[in-house]
Amino acid sequence: RFKATGAETCFHGRHVEPQILAGLDGRNWRLADYVQRGGYQALRKILTQGMTPEQVIAEVKVSALRGRGGAGFPTGLKWSFLPRQLPGPKYLVCNSDEGEPGTFKDRDILLYNPHIVIEGMAIAAYAMGIGTGYNYIHGEIFHAYQRFEEALDEARAAGFIGPQIMGSSFGFELHAHHGFGAYICGEETGLLESLEGKKGQPRFKPPFPASYGLYGRPTTVNNTETFAAVPWIIREGGQAYLECGKPNNGGTKIFSISGDVELPGNYEVPLGTSFVELLALAGGVRAGRKLKAVIPGGASSPVLPAEQAMALTMDYDAIAKAGSMLGSAAVIVLDDSRCMVSSLKRLSYFYMHESCGQCTPCREGTGWLWRQLERLQGGRGRASDLELLKSVAENIQGRTICALGDSAAIPVRAMLRHFRPEFDALIASDSAPQPINPGT
Ligand code: NAD
Ligand code: SF4
Repeated sequence: RFKATGAETCFHGRHVEPQILAGLDGRNWRLADYVQRGGYQALRKILTQGMTPEQVIAEVKVSALRGRGGAGFPTGLKWSFLPRQLPGPKYLVCNSDEGEPGTFKDRDILLYNPHIVIEGMAIAAYAMGIGTGYNYIHGEIFHAYQRFEEALDEARAAGFIGPQIMGSSFGFELHAHHGFGAYICGEETGLLESLEGKKGQPRFKPPFPASYGLYGRPTTVNNTETFAAVPWIIREGGQAYLECGKPNNGGTKIFSISGDVELPGNYEVPLGTSFVELLALAGGVRAGRKLKAVIPGGASSPVLPAEQAMALTMDYDAIAKAGSMLGSAAVIVLDDSRCMVSSLKRLSYFYMHESCGQCTPCREGTGWLWRQLERLQGGRGRASDLELLKSVAENIQGRTICALGDSAAIPVRAMLRHFRPEFDALIASDSAPQPINPGT
């Protein structure tokens, strides 16, 4: 349904080419195509020109690459946490368990450019002294898993992974693993549990995976798009990558734009691009409708009303300053036909369904949120419901093992903050009770 689009952009008067999805159409994903586009040159550069692991990490730090899965943690810093010199196994894990509602970028990277992830992982493994890696791929995109397996076979046959890569002393083995579609396995410690063959339930952090990860060993977990950014950084230099974006927000970013736009899809643009430009790339709001609100960074980021969204600059720091999050850069556009109570109810159903049940505030609270919203939307709301809704959300946020609890609470609080009159009006109206339909 969605087309991967690499939009060439003029940014601050400069021409910036997309680095991950450029010119890809689903037919040129094979190793030969990737090599023709300059693929595996970065790996060759570090292995044949004597770039040290420390130099690789320093380059990634200069680039200001931040984690593309959602948290935006500085990648170079994360790599420096791994105790390189510690003897014994250490692991590298790619988190391709993309499940955040609105996010559909990693599946396109795996389908259209799988070798860029393999090369990025091999470079990361070299930088951190890691010999084994896994790519954990969301179960509902099994075709992407199959594509990645094919790419791995090609890379292995060509000697880009395996022992003594390009005749060097560096060896790296990489395996693909598919999950079964549970959202919670995208949380890094839930993912590690699942990879170990256990129930995918998050662990308490700290300890972070850098010290206690897969099989209790030091592990670095990065998102698919983060690894995909690495070859360009090594080839062109960290400074060049930084200059593609903004200070502290280096590079290009893939924005998954969905909802009420004419051309939903993935758009790769420099961080710091304005929301207005991004919306224009996606063809604007659906014909005949007006923008009502935007969820700028996946379902767990706070919704922003139209006026605020239109003033947004799309980077980590600017969106945080505006009171939301860039998250995984899943931009969900809502036009003026949308009922915010229904939209929130739909999100609440998702979190209730995906809660792993380990902690009480999340397990019970997400159910409470959904049931109250279901009652409200069905015309059975009471005046006291909104305070109760707020209080349940407040009692979930910050009181759970992983971020899913927060993710369920944040949209409720943001919707009430910006669109309370819509909730009040529904309660005041004497609309007839509607039948319960959890899926809508
Ligand atoms: P987090 O801030 O806890 O951690 C971010 C990363 O930094 C982790 O890898 C963590 O191990 C590391 N880290 C943080 N502090 C550290 C320290 N002191 N020492 C060592 N390592 C440290 O965030 P998180 O819970 O991993 O991720 C939450 C985000 O994930 C949310 O913002 C949400 O947007 C996003 N998300 C994305 C998807 C998706 O499909 N892409 C799905 C669900 C959630
Ligand atoms: Fe599980 Fe929810 Fe607790 Fe996360 S917050 S560990 S999903 S119950």
